[in-house]
Amino acid sequence: MAIRNIREIGDPILEKNCKEVKEITPRIRELVEDMLDTMYEANGVGLAAPQVGILKRIVVIDVTGEDPYILINPKIIETDGEQTGPEGCLSIPGKSGIVTRPAHVKAQAYDINMKLYEIEGDELLARAICHELDHLDGHLYVEKVEGELHDVVQQEGEEEE
Ligand code: ZN
Repeated sequence: MAIRNIREIGDPILEKNCKEVKEITPRIRELVEDMLDTMYEANGVGLAAPQVGILKRIVVIDVTGEDPYILINPKIIETDGEQTGPEGCLSIPGKSGIVTRPAHVKAQAYDINMKLYEIEGDELLARAICHELDHLDGHLYVEKVEGELHDVVQQEGEEEE
């Protein structure tokens, strides 16, 4: 278990395309464990591997704090509707902006045993899936923000992605 350093906006690694994971090695297992630890430590609801400096298509998401999803080589396969609301990012600390995302998202991904599964969600989960998968293609939510970024004072229990 280890907390990794979260890369922040301006770091070129956040703008790069991530590579597919071919097999689960002990290093990948360790990375995923560390990503979960790092996400929980930072009070985040999601974290993508490039945010800890690793250019691999791996994402962790947990919107409830007790239901972690590990998404390896994830792909969005279905979206529906629209939601507009505030979004934040652990790589852009202290800021938030309004972003429109699909209201409902279905994705497929491999789990830590390289078993293919589907993840489906609304509201925050749908938003988190879109946000984290964008990271794997080098995109940050600021590209999609409507209006200005706002300063946020992080409250106890508040969530960032
Ligand atoms: Zn983010």
